[in-house]
Amino acid sequence: MADIVIIGAGPAGVFAALELVSDTQGLDVVMVEQGKDIPSRSRSTGDIMQGWGGAGAFSDGKLTLSTELGGDLSSLVPEKELMGLVEEVDTTYLRYSAPNKVFEVSPDNAEKISARAKLAGLMYIPTRIRHIGTENCYAVLKNMRDYLDDKLEIIFNTKVMEIVSHEGRVNGVRLEDGRLIEARYVIVAPGRAGSAWMASQAASLGIDAWPNPVDLGVRVELPAVTMEELTSMAYETKFIYYSRTFDDRVRTFCMNPYGEVVKETADNIVTVNGHSWASRRSENTNFAILVSANFTEPFDDPIGYGRSVAAMANMLGSGVIVQRLGDLISGRRTTDERLKRSMTEPTLKDATPGDLSYCIPYRILTDIVEMLEALDKITPGVNTSHTLLYGVEVKFYSNRIRLNNDLSTDIDGLFVVGDGAGITRGLVQASCSGLIAARAIKKAIA
Ligand SMILES: Cc1cc2nc3c(=O)[nH]c(=O)nc-3n(C[C@H](O)[C@H](O)[C@H](O)COP(=O)(O)OP(=O)(O)OC[C@H]3O[C@@H](n4cnc5c(N)ncnc54)[C@H](O)[C@@H]3O)c2cc1C
Repeated sequence: MADIVIIGAGPAGVFAALELVSDTQGLDVVMVEQGKDIPSRSRSTGDIMQGWGGAGAFSDGKLTLSTELGGDLSSLVPEKELMGLVEEVDTTYLRYSAPNKVFEVSPDNAEKISARAKLAGLMYIPTRIRHIGTENCYAVLKNMRDYLDDKLEIIFNTKVMEIVSHEGRVNGVRLEDGRLIEARYVIVAPGRAGSAWMASQAASLGIDAWPNPVDLGVRVELPAVTMEELTSMAYETKFIYYSRTFDDRVRTFCMNPYGEVVKETADNIVTVNGHSWASRRSENTNFAILVSANFTEPFDDPIGYGRSVAAMANMLGSGVIVQRLGDLISGRRTTDERLKRSMTEPTLKDATPGDLSYCIPYRILTDIVEMLEALDKITPGVNTSHTLLYGVEVKFYSNRIRLNNDLSTDIDGLFVVGDGAGITRGLVQASCSGLIAARAIKKAIA
């Protein structure tokens, strides 16, 4: 028996917990996490998406201090209120030892980049970012874990199988070992790892949900000097482009100056990603170019589509494929020999030199090539034959759950937050969502 059960110990669940234990009423909170506690987690064991800290534990730790990026909470929460929450979340990360430095572009430079972007047909979105860095995420999350240790019960290595409700009111949760934890309130924060489970729970509870688009593309890598002018003005530059041929929305994402390209494995699918360390530098900069694939009736499985494209690259390249841009444009495969001649030395060593045109659909590849042409007008050197493209990068998003403004569902006492609700896509908004639900519960209980 508990007052509140939190499902999932990612940033959304952790911030809900931090808020609930700060209540003077001494609420009885139980957290259930299917993965391991943080000291037992390791990148090499493949549990990068689950355990204390969720997907955040091995993330790049870029806190995007904006209401426009990293989620869609602005569709439910007024802008000013949401900005207040973003600042509060940032202060909390700082309190638990996130580095003090914020990367932001000066107004003069923002104007300069924006003007150049317009000439290239690109839209520039200025960002403010606190970069925790991959190596520091662990410490920040461990500090939060230590603080919460004696303030609530945390059950690890245990999956919640079922959210239990009766006559429109939540009653608690059933664990995989059969135990029932009764509770007046349940905050579900299952992240991407719990996406399929959440979809099945929503269906059985009669909660409305619909698919989000899937984002597909490549990781681009090039010598850091090529982008130095831009990355020295702004740590992360985000550009949006509407492609010439298809009028698709194409965007840059997750720029890592002096960073590394990495492989990610989830559900037997290998995809590509990038990150950077706060204290270690490579010679290269990498970023993603992504295209949102939106489907209309009768197709409603964007995740399945994204998986199929990634699976094709895996089949041809036994994992991730790398190709020189020049080879792609000339219609030939990159070989070991050609890769050796590239001026960009790949940071991901075990990608297979190959041909991305065999696995990435024509529409998406055309969007990417046109985006690179546009980017070249801002940062000459991006669109050269030595630029490396790694595929496939895929961003899957959970189904969007129908939620009220306080992230409650139409089942009394049941809240769904974070990436698992399909409403957030990043650390800051996921953390904000945990706060919103916890505060709504505290208000209801008071
Ligand atoms: C490699 C990588 C790099 C990233 N880099 C950044 C970045 O730099 N900046 C940024 O803003 N975002 C980044 N992200 C995204 C960010 O990590 C997520 O947006 C964020 O972690 C979402 O938080 P969450 O709490 O909603 O879900 P998660 O962090 O996914 O946590 C959900 C937790 O719930 C648990 N769970 C699921 N179902 C159940 C169940 N039935 N029973 C019990 N437990 C369950 C899971 O095991 C998991 O631990 C990155 C993600 C990845 C994978």
